[in-house]
Amino acid sequence: MGARLKAYEGQAASVAGKGKDLVNEPMIRHWCEAMDDTDPAYTGPDAIAPPTMLQAWTMGGLSGHSGRTGAYDELFDLLDEAGCTSVVATDCEQEYLRPLRPGDEVGFDTVIESVSDRKTTKLGTGYFVTTRTDVRVGGDLVGTHRFRILKYAPARQKKEPEGPRARRPRPVVNRDNAGFWEGVERHHLLIQRCTDCGTLRHPWLPGCNACGGPDWDTVEASGEGTVYSYVVMHHPPFPAFDPPYAVGLIELAEGVRIVSNVVGVPYDKVRIGLPVRLEFRRYDEPEGDAEGGPSVLPVFRVLEGRAGGEG
Ligand code: ZN
Repeated sequence: MGARLKAYEGQAASVAGKGKDLVNEPMIRHWCEAMDDTDPAYTGPDAIAPPTMLQAWTMGGLSGHSGRTGAYDELFDLLDEAGCTSVVATDCEQEYLRPLRPGDEVGFDTVIESVSDRKTTKLGTGYFVTTRTDVRVGGDLVGTHRFRILKYAPARQKKEPEGPRARRPRPVVNRDNAGFWEGVERHHLLIQRCTDCGTLRHPWLPGCNACGGPDWDTVEASGEGTVYSYVVMHHPPFPAFDPPYAVGLIELAEGVRIVSNVVGVPYDKVRIGLPVRLEFRRYDEPEGDAEGGPSVLPVFRVLEGRAGGEG
């Protein structure tokens, strides 16, 4: 197998490929917005393209490229036959020789540079395949893009060992919110109040957003509130939780909002506007948990008879 794969090293994957578009300002602008890159070099009359866009100018899109030789597809088929049916991109390397500018017409050639020996990774056993694309403008080499994938046979998934339920993550307590969590431990939901202007705030902060005042005291929430908004979590799964579940943004009667669990109804019956009432719940912790941290949490129960079954 190894020798058949090695025979692809040095074979052309694309010959005399042509970029589908000239280097152009709209694509540069979209890229910069997506990357949140505000470098002034990429705008104005003397704009250059961000160097990391190198590969973008050679992409074939859904319709693909005309210059493909078929060698890369053959290599893929061979690896599929060997059971290496999964693929993951592992890394890319780029070299830049001169900047690309709007109006440049990009041409390129791609070669299968190397096929590794058989390697065993956490994902499974397979082969690293590296392609090298030489990007040219008017015959001059302007940059090189190396792209590496692992084509592999997936390792058999290990079943999650049966055992005690994963530990629920504890809230992070710091000097700004310690008073809040002390209140919760004693079953009081305390809202910070600015003693300069009287504005209430939650979550707890060192200063007032309204007036900048550093001094504060607290008022205790009545516990009445409504579901202001919510999301239903499906993914990613976290070991301590059982998706799907609803995470609510509760507007307290006092006017501040708090993120919390909505309890008392199934996740798909949570609705904006449902009246809820505060309660405190202690979450059991596995034995031998030395890390500590609050295990009492404020949660909000939907008032009985108020959860409708319809939209
Ligand atoms: Zn204030």
